[in-house]
Amino acid sequence: MPIYEYHCDDCKEPFDLFVRSVNAAVKAVCPQCGSEHVEKAVTAASALGLGNASSFASSAASCAPTG
Ligand SMILES: [Zn+2]
Repeated sequence: MPIYEYHCDDCKEPFDLFVRSVNAAVKAVCPQCGSEHVEKAVTAASALGLGNASSFASSAASCAPTG
């Protein structure tokens, strides 16, 4: 179950959002003030591209010598 980090634009409070499915449309709402003015924060895991290993592997393969 992926966990996304958000922060609220209204009260500036960070919070985590549990998502049942990566394909599910989730309406993020601030648990502190109920505002919908929230922004998704970039986590260390997503910045490293850990959830996108397949694209990294394919790009690495294209750089490999074919001889
Ligand atoms: Zn808030």
